[in-house]
Amino acid sequence: MASLFNNALQQLDKAYEHLKVSKDVKEILGSPKEAIHFWIPVRMDNGELQTFEAFRIHYNDHLGPTKGGIRFSPAVCLDEVEALSFWMMIKCALVDIPFGGAKGGVVVDTKQLSQAEIERVSRGFVRGAAGFMGPDRDIPAPDMYTNAKIMLWMSDEYNTIRGKYKPAFITGKPVALGGSLGRDSATARGGFFCIRELMKLKNKTPEKTKVAVQGFGNAGSHLAIMLHEAGYTVTAISDSSGGVHCEEGLDPKHLLSIKKKEKKPLKSLASHAPNARAITNEQLLELKVDILCPAAMENQITKENAGKIKAQIIVELANGPTTPNADEILEKKGVLIVPDVLANAGGVTVSYFEWVQNREGYYWDEDMIDRRLDKIITKAFHRTNDVMKEKGVTMRTAAFLTSVKRVASAIDAKGLI
Ligand code: NAD
Repeated sequence: MASLFNNALQQLDKAYEHLKVSKDVKEILGSPKEAIHFWIPVRMDNGELQTFEAFRIHYNDHLGPTKGGIRFSPAVCLDEVEALSFWMMIKCALVDIPFGGAKGGVVVDTKQLSQAEIERVSRGFVRGAAGFMGPDRDIPAPDMYTNAKIMLWMSDEYNTIRGKYKPAFITGKPVALGGSLGRDSATARGGFFCIRELMKLKNKTPEKTKVAVQGFGNAGSHLAIMLHEAGYTVTAISDSSGGVHCEEGLDPKHLLSIKKKEKKPLKSLASHAPNARAITNEQLLELKVDILCPAAMENQITKENAGKIKAQIIVELANGPTTPNADEILEKKGVLIVPDVLANAGGVTVSYFEWVQNREGYYWDEDMIDRRLDKIITKAFHRTNDVMKEKGVTMRTAAFLTSVKRVASAIDAKGLI
């Protein structure tokens, strides 16, 4: 598998073709600022001790404390976390929130662990990295296979270590315990706002628009439900097992409730939707739809399948779903890609709101959160669209141009001896 961090650096190089930055900036942005790599010893339910490899990377903190999720996955590695921390830096700068980029990961398959074991891994991560994180230094959040409950365990562990109540240490907590309203659906809502603005620009209505969503976790399931409720025809959804497809449209909320109740993979639920059939994730990506939303994981659209993609618009809810080779093929085909750093920035934006609310001790209602999120994402979307048009570049490069310019001006202003 090609290096994900290399993919990220290739995207950066594309931006440099259109942007003059100093040698210092290139040197600083070419690698992360700092990283820790550690192992978490965990007493398993059967009494045996098992160690789990873990990482936390701060890519850049010129615009503020670093911010980024923690991924629990058997496949996570230093290269992946490096790329994800880099994209966090680009994303925060793009939507203009005062954070740098970070990311963390634990090599663990949560599907094989009990809840008590996942709690011990989560608390162990904080014990291992507490000195490297904090509300004024580096603020974690959820990512793949981590959720509000895990954020709560991590928050509780941090408070215990510090001997203080420090809710701003981590975002994505349950609302009852310092979380923000709207955080669980924020990533999808940001993507939804991008799609809404795009439809306006293209003079298209939801009713005539078919969408396929790959990934049915936090980002994908919320997006599929929002689109369905807004009148789009969601013809396909999938999880890691495969998916369900129906040309006339699916009801994602109904399928989510059955999936949760029956604890079954999506591909086995086709019989619960009229005229639906089971499909593979590869088939989903190649369906004839207007909008394709990869919302699962990286490297899904590659040079192998890019030529077979029929959607004219791709909205990247997942981080890094399209490789640079695939980007080139899709650009030649005239496919518009709303890049991950813009399409999924709703999550970190509401995480920022959560951090602000935790520090103020004053909590906002959902309406205020949605309005503020809408304003930030809509502004970032149109700014990126304008740069794309003005410079004649892809939307991804346009997003990078805006972000890199911001980070570069902070690096140059600070200077280094
Ligand atoms: P999640 O763990 O809630 O869900 C992941 C989903 O992807 C699950 O449905 C899983 O079954 C599915 N999946 C896993 N492997 C797959 C595969 N090979 N093919 C198809 N589906 C597969 O994770 P999430 O939080 O929804 O994150 C999904 C993506 O969105 C990730 O790339 C993540 O980095 C990105 N993202 C998430 C947030 C957030 O706030 N949760 C914010 C920004 C970006």
